[in-house]
Amino acid sequence: MTQFNDSNTNARVDELHHKEEERLIASLASTYGYQYVNLRDRPLNADALSLISESDSRRGELAVFARNGYTVSVALKNTNNEASAFLLKSLVDKGLTPEIYLTSQRSLDHAWERFKEIGKTTAKIKGVLDVDAEMIQTLMKDIHSHLDISERVNRVQNERSTMSTSKIIEIVFGGALALNASDIHIEPELATTRVRYRLDGVLFDVCTVEKEISLHIISRLKLLSGLKLNIKKESQDGRFTFDVGPRNVEVRSSVIPGAQGESIVMRLLDPDASSFRIENLGLNTTLHEVLMNELKRPNGAIITTGPTGSGKTSALYSFLLHIHTPELKILTLEDPVEYKLPGIVQTQVSDKYSFAEGLRSMLRQDPDVILIGEIRDREVAETAIHAALTGHLVFSTLHTNSAAGAFARLIDIGVDSRMIGSAINLILGQRLVRTLCTKCKKERDITTEEQKLFQRILGTPVAIHSIFDAQGCEACSMNGYKGRIGVFEAIRVDSAVENAVLNDTREQAILEVAKPQGIPTMQQDALYKVLSGTTSLDEVSRVLDFYHIDD
Ligand SMILES: [Zn+2]
Repeated sequence: MTQFNDSNTNARVDELHHKEEERLIASLASTYGYQYVNLRDRPLNADALSLISESDSRRGELAVFARNGYTVSVALKNTNNEASAFLLKSLVDKGLTPEIYLTSQRSLDHAWERFKEIGKTTAKIKGVLDVDAEMIQTLMKDIHSHLDISERVNRVQNERSTMSTSKIIEIVFGGALALNASDIHIEPELATTRVRYRLDGVLFDVCTVEKEISLHIISRLKLLSGLKLNIKKESQDGRFTFDVGPRNVEVRSSVIPGAQGESIVMRLLDPDASSFRIENLGLNTTLHEVLMNELKRPNGAIITTGPTGSGKTSALYSFLLHIHTPELKILTLEDPVEYKLPGIVQTQVSDKYSFAEGLRSMLRQDPDVILIGEIRDREVAETAIHAALTGHLVFSTLHTNSAAGAFARLIDIGVDSRMIGSAINLILGQRLVRTLCTKCKKERDITTEEQKLFQRILGTPVAIHSIFDAQGCEACSMNGYKGRIGVFEAIRVDSAVENAVLNDTREQAILEVAKPQGIPTMQQDALYKVLSGTTSLDEVSRVLDFYHIDD
């Protein structure tokens, strides 16, 4: 007679029972169109798991077990759990895209076990960081120029306290946020280490730090970014985030080995959505009106053009946020996601997930509006054009030098010219120029030579007799400039342009038929901004060529 009470047999029965349970869940998953996962078979990502706290994960009977860019994998036991629906939405609100997997209770228990270890590592990281968000906020209020930063850093260095490292990190970050720097560079030189900020696209020296302290700073920033401390001869990339009041600043760091030691460059990604407002782009009244009309349309494509760093993506983000309402389903596919937009589902391409594939799977989710980071090849171009023709509003960028050049470029990529006219509503071209510091800009008379330039470009003599030059004061860290604004051109695809696209896509031909639209050219737009005192003639001449005449 077989005895079932020995522990060996019990374990085997248990195991069979578990296997059966897993099989059952796998088959349920496929019936209901979900994926299935056994969390006991795979590594769990601690960062992903920490996205939802242990108590919330237990309440919602779920576990976030993996993360790839802005896509997170969530294992659920029950798809009808109200708490889990709420928690999934909280992920979406953070700009993440959850992918749902069905899983067993046993898997969840296994994942939740991990919270014990994670608790330990977060505490450890806090010890490493010691950066006080409140302190940074106070610093942001007190720091008005790079002079304030170097003064504070020197004071801390003279104190020689054990807290120097974290105090200097606080000052450097607080200062970067106060001055709106986009990057922080910490670069060791022979005797000292130089700290520089990138402000409005240009690098500026901020302060120097004693070499010994800077080594501690770099180690600490490496730890924070999740990088290996003992690797010093290879470059490494990492990231971390910190909260400053309501702002959640994401930092992407990259450490590069060099002759004088490792240097670190940190890019600050501030998801503060208020920086993406159409009102702040610098559109002239004519173009603003044209754009508002185009954004009301339910379908068609709006494409921005310009070189890298010309603000194309920021402009598209501001369009998205402008039309964003809860009823609209907006999806983005980017390379990479640069800013998290509240309430918009953003995904990013990877080695395994190309633009073309991503676009196809995006369209299966039936969105109203899609943003495609860049049109690079024929497949993406055709899918985007097709989407625009079938009831979607499509935003994308194209790497061309001018709006008028976009048509030839699309045909070059392989798009049928007959589709272009009906699919595309508007093509914008843009560059960024620095805006003059309002505290120190200096007025002067326009020279005769400049008068001629204004008249030639604007087509009429100008009634304004003075413009402004950059000077430099404490408020602008002696730059003379503070902030940036776009200079624009645009072509609305009306029937005349549509015709031209079929017959002659040379830029000159396109520009000729678009003239009646009355949208200022980029050169005109820039000169208007000089005449209004927003920027200087020097600055716009640095960015645009006013003397080369196209034939
Ligand atoms: Zn100034």
